[in-house]
Amino acid sequence: MSKQAAILLVEDEPHIAQGLIYNLQEEGYQVSHVESGETALEHLREHDCALLILDLMLPGIDGLEVCRQLRQQGNQVAILMLTARGEEQDRIAGLSEGADDYLAKPFNLKEFLLRVAGLLRRSRWQQPPTADRIIRFGCNQIDLNNHLAKTANGQFQLTELEIKILQLFVNNEGKLITRGELLQSVWGLQPDTETRTLDNFIVRLRKYFELDPTKPCHFLTVRGRGYRFSKG
Ligand code: CA
Repeated sequence: MSKQAAILLVEDEPHIAQGLIYNLQEEGYQVSHVESGETALEHLREHDCALLILDLMLPGIDGLEVCRQLRQQGNQVAILMLTARGEEQDRIAGLSEGADDYLAKPFNLKEFLLRVAGLLRRSRWQQPPTADRIIRFGCNQIDLNNHLAKTANGQFQLTELEIKILQLFVNNEGKLITRGELLQSVWGLQPDTETRTLDNFIVRLRKYFELDPTKPCHFLTVRGRGYRFSKG
């Protein structure tokens, strides 16, 4: 995707919004800006966008609710959640509602722009649909055309990022995938970045696909190294 990528910023604090818009435009992105979750949902009904930058704390419905509604509608737009509180609880809540990444305020502008670039790069990974693109392991069946997972724990609509990570694991069955490799290839981060994002994703995958997430048999931890996938 070129730098022309359309970004929708949902931020109610004018001085923060102005700073982000300025810097995103300096990078060459097209930015639209709204100040509430309701107007964001309205905007997305009318316009395509490659990335949604979503403040958690908003007047009216909050960022979590926006996420939830978009994913329920089957909208798979990449979402970067901005949280003011920086609480682990908020981050996990955001990610489990379908956000792809989060950044706690106050954040470093350079890191913000790196995350934006990373998410836009990933949204290009989506492959064109083909007739038979089904992943099966254990009691799980994932349709890559519509991102629908049917599992023993119920049906889940997966995000693009969840699909990407899942494919990476399945294509490397039995092999160690280090944290650094995942951070670099999936999030575009330096391999030694300290972040809980990856751990939160593994928690989500286990919640979807493991019969007992506390005793995983598919998404295995290799202590101190990373993870290994087994079809089980
Ligand atoms: Ca706010």
